[in-house]
Amino acid sequence: MKPTVAFFDFSSCEGCQLQIANLEETVLDVAGKVNIVAFREVMKESSDSYDIAIVEGSICRPIDEKRLKTIRKNAGILIALGACAHLGCVQRLSNQWTPRENKEVVYGPIKKGVTDDSNPFFDQPHHRSLDEIVPVDYVIPGCPIDRNEFVKVLVALLQGKKPPIPDYPVCVECKKRENVCLFTIGKVCMGPVARAGCNAICPTYGMSCEACRGYVSHPHEQAQTDVLEKYGVSAEEIMNMKSMFTYKYIEQAKQKKKEQASVEKEVVA
Ligand code: SF4
Ligand code: SF4
Ligand code: SF4
Repeated sequence: MKPTVAFFDFSSCEGCQLQIANLEETVLDVAGKVNIVAFREVMKESSDSYDIAIVEGSICRPIDEKRLKTIRKNAGILIALGACAHLGCVQRLSNQWTPRENKEVVYGPIKKGVTDDSNPFFDQPHHRSLDEIVPVDYVIPGCPIDRNEFVKVLVALLQGKKPPIPDYPVCVECKKRENVCLFTIGKVCMGPVARAGCNAICPTYGMSCEACRGYVSHPHEQAQTDVLEKYGVSAEEIMNMKSMFTYKYIEQAKQKKKEQASVEKEVVA
């Protein structure tokens, strides 16, 4: 019996699913080894019975949280697809403001008389990644994902192997490509802590790496700090870089600090 695979999406641009839909012949080849039972971008049918759930998007509403929990319950394996599902992606930046403030920035001043109670938009809690709500078995990182990496992950899973996602920094790939380091030409780059696997595509074309694939499991943050100090990068510049795709880590660090402060307060009391 072929394993069944279903695709789902939450808050996202659906660009990661599009990468998979664009695989054409390769996806057909992979699809020969699995039964795709739900994939809104390419088929009308859908099913609640599946072995592998591939989920794109961040979670921001109670209704999404409930739906994700049902997907998790139905699936043997749950894969987070892309930076939205893995990290909360750029939309997570909106967590810094209230839903009302975000709405006013995008749509203009809210009419007099409209209260938080009368507009469901205001009910939206903050964006979160999938693993903050349910256990996630594997992550295919990136914004968007690398479609070849997707195929490799699926093939590994079908062979009962651990998916081959690199756990070393983008700098390794960048140096292998013999690129000129962007720091030496006055730019800022997250390469020292960002997870490789994209073949350092951004620095290779002169663009700063903004860590869309998240950080490696044990980021050498001191090495990054040393580089930033050496090149005189301002705290604001680095905070902008760290916020783009990886605001999740900033939120987690703040939460950890808060919890530590509360423990210390209890010990003193
Ligand atoms: S990770 Fe990027 S490309 Fe993929 S769905 Fe999210 S915003 Fe779109
Ligand atoms: S910091 Fe950026 S540009 Fe410099 S080596 Fe690392 S990835 Fe390449
Ligand atoms: S170089 Fe950085 S920002 Fe660019 S794709 Fe790779 S991880 Fe993402």
